[in-house]
Amino acid sequence: MKHKGIEKKLFFYIIIIILIIIISIFMIFIKNKNNQKDFNSNINNNISSSISNTSSISNDEIARQIKEIDNKLDDPLLRLITKELPLNSNYLPELITINNLNKQVDKRILNDLNKMLSDGKKANINLYIQSAYRSYNVQKTLYENKINNLLPKYDNDNATATIEAGKIVAPPGTSEHQYGMSLDIVEKSVSSLVPEVEEKTATYKWLYKNCANYGFILRYPKNKTDITGIMYEPWHFRYVGIENAKTIMSLGITLEEYIEQLLNEKNILEEKNKIE
Ligand SMILES: [Zn+2]
Repeated sequence: MKHKGIEKKLFFYIIIIILIIIISIFMIFIKNKNNQKDFNSNINNNISSSISNTSSISNDEIARQIKEIDNKLDDPLLRLITKELPLNSNYLPELITINNLNKQVDKRILNDLNKMLSDGKKANINLYIQSAYRSYNVQKTLYENKINNLLPKYDNDNATATIEAGKIVAPPGTSEHQYGMSLDIVEKSVSSLVPEVEEKTATYKWLYKNCANYGFILRYPKNKTDITGIMYEPWHFRYVGIENAKTIMSLGITLEEYIEQLLNEKNILEEKNKIE
């Protein structure tokens, strides 16, 4: 009798252990499946930092993420300046002179710019600043001069000369240089700004590889002229902050595409909020 009782107990324990094992395996399976879901959604969203596991986040968390995206979209560091989104003629950043150069930038970018310049120097790279802040009036003069230069070529047709000039010099208000966060950096002080020449220099190669660490992006890349509306400029670098720059440069996208991705993410989150 006693012997049978022990057998019964043993059988009961074995059943319990088997059940625990089955439940554990099931839990691990579910967890892996969720991880895979996160991984896929991150790939889809491209920007890895923002949305993770949207399938299980609370409404508060969604609201927080939307706020975070809104803050980014309002961040002056990400301000788009294009022909469609020009600056006011009286827009004037708080300017500061770069070291003892005769050039100025928005004071918010000076620290990171100085770090980039000194690290470049340590790596024996020539980083010559051809152009930094340009006022509205300076841009206006450059633009008008270009139109005048082109007039004879187009039989004094002002409309055509104006269109053609706009392809080479940004019309006043539409140049990032007026914003004070962009610089043209080249290898030599006397540069003709020819893309095929500049892109082969050690200066460009170093900048392309390292600029994001100091918050800068290559603003007008080679295969993106249809998106930016500006020719390939392997010398024009724009400050957007280190975190943004690292994302933009590692994905090989433009500021336009980055902003579009942020808006897409916001839409997804807002949709999600409606469903919940
Ligand atoms: Zn430029």
